[in-house]
Amino acid sequence: MRYGFAGQLLRVNLTDSIYKVEELDEKELRKYMGCSGYAAKLLYQEMPGGTDPLSPEAKVVIATGAVSGTLCPSGGSYEVCYKSPLTGTWNQARSGGGFGPKLKYAGFDFLVIEGRAADPVYIFINDGKVEIKPAKHLWGKNVEDTTDIIIRELDDPEVSVAAIGQAGENGVLYSALINDRGRAAARGGIGAVFGSKNLKAVVVRGSRGIKVGNPKQFVEAIEKAEQWLKNYLFAAIPALGTVNMMVPNSTLGILPTKNFQKAHFENVDKVSGELINEKYNIKRRACYGCSFACGRYTHVNGGKFATPPMEGPEYETVDMLGPLCGIDEIEAIIKGNYLCNVYGLDTISAGMSIAFAMECYEKGLLTDEDTEGLPLRWGDAEVMLKLLEKIAHREGIGAFLAQGVKRMAEKLGPAAEEAAIHVKGLELAAHEPRSESKSLALQYAVSPRGACHMHPNWASVWDFQIDCGMKEFGLPSWPAGPQEESLKRSLAYRYVVLQGEITEILGGCIFFSWGAEGNCITPQLYAEIVSALTGWNVTAAELLTAAERSWNLKRCFNAREGFTRKEDRLPKRIYNAIPDGPSAGARVENLDLMLDGYYEAMGWDKQTGLPTPEKLRELGLEFAIN
Ligand code: SF4
Repeated sequence: MRYGFAGQLLRVNLTDSIYKVEELDEKELRKYMGCSGYAAKLLYQEMPGGTDPLSPEAKVVIATGAVSGTLCPSGGSYEVCYKSPLTGTWNQARSGGGFGPKLKYAGFDFLVIEGRAADPVYIFINDGKVEIKPAKHLWGKNVEDTTDIIIRELDDPEVSVAAIGQAGENGVLYSALINDRGRAAARGGIGAVFGSKNLKAVVVRGSRGIKVGNPKQFVEAIEKAEQWLKNYLFAAIPALGTVNMMVPNSTLGILPTKNFQKAHFENVDKVSGELINEKYNIKRRACYGCSFACGRYTHVNGGKFATPPMEGPEYETVDMLGPLCGIDEIEAIIKGNYLCNVYGLDTISAGMSIAFAMECYEKGLLTDEDTEGLPLRWGDAEVMLKLLEKIAHREGIGAFLAQGVKRMAEKLGPAAEEAAIHVKGLELAAHEPRSESKSLALQYAVSPRGACHMHPNWASVWDFQIDCGMKEFGLPSWPAGPQEESLKRSLAYRYVVLQGEITEILGGCIFFSWGAEGNCITPQLYAEIVSALTGWNVTAAELLTAAERSWNLKRCFNAREGFTRKEDRLPKRIYNAIPDGPSAGARVENLDLMLDGYYEAMGWDKQTGLPTPEKLRELGLEFAIN
């Protein structure tokens, strides 16, 4: 491998405490492009179907892509790919910060983790050298303390630490991996997978650069990208942070509230992004090399919810720990975000689990006996914080909540089904599929990791008439009538998926992909960037084919685990109309029609919803044909 990649894969076996460095095959890498695409190939081929995700046989791939660690504006990302213990499906959790670029600078595009250590350890990757170091002294510590101790031990504040907290150690099924103190690879329970392997952290020190194939062409392409991004459509994201969606989303009736029973929140002004920016914001934060800097550093400076400075909260967190639980105390929400970061919890699934429990308590499905006398009332901020502590430590009712909504609902019986808001076991994010966009409903139903709003793309872009540079490849125009609308939407979603999957296989950040030629990074512009970077002469069409290959393989991964069309369903509540507020009456219609259209557009079998042998052959995925 000459350009754009480090060219090596690091394989660490924790059972035997050994590691191996493998050279990457350039032809094979180009076929999948890298990042989660190449990780899908590794996991499909190396981990048999039915593997228990918390067993030593389970593997984890930490993956970077071509643009990771480069000057490309979205190059601060990495993905952790694994089988989720929460859902039993394919999972990829993206994070930013500096961890991904440093892994690549340390000499590795991929880290494959196998086995289970006899005692707690952490992996230290130091510019090509690898050590598996004891971590007994770190076990039981939160992410913040773990990071501090490791940095002191290694005497290097520049190392990047990705660690689990108590939630991962205790097997909370939605525990996260937190890197650079506050950036989370959150969804699906990677923390529990690390915990099951007795792996406390991965630490990287990387100072090697990445060779660029054609530096002049690369600089020109990057300058073009920076120029285009000056006209970015969603300027409020970089300028004000994602939290600024709180008030507009409530006004539009698309803000999930009280466990998706409502879609607007009367007290939204008390939890607004404006308030966070004005009173609690310390500074902006960026992932490696990102000029957008959409992240925020906040703290509560005194009082009963005081916190040290911490990354976040993002929009999802504010809604999930706030309006979704009927809570309007912003300082408690910031404290909740802090607790999730230090214990290593996914704020979305944690908030959804708490909201589910509050609704079950209101309906008498959970009693004071179950909660050890803790009244799980809507709007009680102190209860929310107590529950986060209990979940992370699996104490009392916390052990019940630590399983996630699907398992809790199964244990409580049919009466709890109405309140169980998840797809394939993954709780919905803070985007309301009934009123935000119909494409989002389709995305929640078919996404490989369950109810996901971001991988591989934000489905609502097409409904908002944003083409993302995909018109010339066949993206249909805006629809005319209901029947036609469903079918067109299905076809459009294929293009939205493929455009987003390009970002996933290059290691970019999806925020840069929303727009059109002249104001976002289109597939064509990515092709220019990747060509200059790797010297491969890549076209947008080649990127789209690699994206389709990756997307199909992730579907095959799930098929092998027994997931078919019958699991592509939405929660019961989401089929009912929103009862009141600005979006009253909005509902999901024609899901089956949309599914038919989507499978057909993808070249999949309509009955099973799975890729056909012909499609897999066309994509060079013969090994995935059953
Ligand atoms: S836009 Fe935000 S999440 Fe994306 S790379 Fe930049 S700082 Fe990170």
